[in-house]
Amino acid sequence: MKLYNSLTHKTEEFVPNEPGKVKMYTCGPTVYHFAHIGNLRSYIMEDVLEKYMRYVGYDVKRVMNITDVGHLTSDGDTGDDKMLKGAKREHKTVMEIARYYTDAFFEDCKKLNIKIPDVVEPATHCVDEFIKTIQALQEKGFAYEAGGNIYFDTSKLDKYYVFNDFREEDLAVGVREGVEEDTNKRNKADFVLWFTKSKFDDQELKWESPWGIGYPGWHIECSCISMKHLGERLDIHCGGIDNQFPHHTNEIAQSEAFLGHKWCNYWFHVHHLNTDDGKMSKSKGEFLTVSLLQEKGYLPVVYRFFCLQSHYRKSLVFSYENLDNAKTAYDKLIARIAQLMRAKGGAAVDSAAFDSLKAGFTAAMDEDINTSNAVTALYDVFKADTDPATKLALVADFDKVLSLDLAENAEKLVAEQDAAASDIPQEVLDLVEQRKAARAAKDFALADSLRDQISALGYTIRETRQGTEITKN
Ligand code: AMP
Ligand code: ZN
Repeated sequence: MKLYNSLTHKTEEFVPNEPGKVKMYTCGPTVYHFAHIGNLRSYIMEDVLEKYMRYVGYDVKRVMNITDVGHLTSDGDTGDDKMLKGAKREHKTVMEIARYYTDAFFEDCKKLNIKIPDVVEPATHCVDEFIKTIQALQEKGFAYEAGGNIYFDTSKLDKYYVFNDFREEDLAVGVREGVEEDTNKRNKADFVLWFTKSKFDDQELKWESPWGIGYPGWHIECSCISMKHLGERLDIHCGGIDNQFPHHTNEIAQSEAFLGHKWCNYWFHVHHLNTDDGKMSKSKGEFLTVSLLQEKGYLPVVYRFFCLQSHYRKSLVFSYENLDNAKTAYDKLIARIAQLMRAKGGAAVDSAAFDSLKAGFTAAMDEDINTSNAVTALYDVFKADTDPATKLALVADFDKVLSLDLAENAEKLVAEQDAAASDIPQEVLDLVEQRKAARAAKDFALADSLRDQISALGYTIRETRQGTEITKN
């Protein structure tokens, strides 16, 4: 399978360190608020990547952190502490906030059929590991103490900007409003590994350390949690595109300085979901969550389908109009599968047809997880000249990766249609048949009058492309 690697800027054949095994790491959520549907786009696409790797036979071990300490609003060393901000907003403790929003995140994942990684570790459980790694970095000459804090010295590296060539001037402090220069830093790109001089007087979570009481920086947690569970060599690291700098750049700096060799071979970055008026944000107007979409009547899998219709390396614009289009397409998909279920009979699966249609799906996915082409491969199944049993087997097979509840929702639809049909009095069914005949004969006046008679008996009739629908008024 081929994957785009952000580190090399090329689409490359994926070759894990150990044949057949994949060690995968994902940056987890910062649990100070609900995840917005943009965050969840990243987790949906990473879930598809993991499931596809399993589908083609890899033994995958995936690890994710939960950020419950250290993440500042700037993603660097400036701004507010996100967890503290959440706690103040809700008049709760940081740990209460962390617990509440961790649970909420997993609820969202469940709704969206996102599998929980094999290992999930909150940063606050690993402070001893952070301290040991920072001590080792200090011993190796990559970290220094200044003004009470411990900093990573980026000048000690051959190359710091591994993803893109940033210029030092871009990091210029004082340019953006509210950003004050940290005069402790020897180089502008240096970053905090351990804070003892907290600028937040009411910092809640603090630990003893060789440098005094304090708390870890954000970046160190992913390096340590990854190494704790996946060892010294990682195959693939995932996150949203905004994590590339400074977060992933700093993760690589400190991990490779600590290990003395290359750490992770492939970097998978999901591009952003934006609203029509720009960036998705948790502070702006109506905050887009999965629960909000549900309140508005959308199934969470419809949002997942919306995401899968686009490639993960393109930014995606969210609007209710776009989501409605995805909903219409999803409903049609389910109706077609329901029709196949009715037509199935007892036929066996045609393995030659199965293999050739499956090849269309794997070809799409092998090409840098091209989910939009994979969805096209699903449509190709309906058009194919093969029997319903084979088509249904393919739908179930693709859905191991797509996770769109295709069979489940089609079964529900069949059951609903059966229940509705069994309730309808014979008199109404007879009128429906007469109306079908009238329409076929283009006698629309008669068809209209039959519809009125049906209506007078308490039923509504609607002709759709999928067939005739009869519902009780
Ligand atoms: P956070 O909870 O802020 O640490 O972010 C969780 C994940 O969501 C990270 O992988 C981010 O890179 C990703 N992310 C943030 N904003 C968006 C967005 N608008 N679209 C897609 N992914 C995002
Ligand atoms: Zn991370």
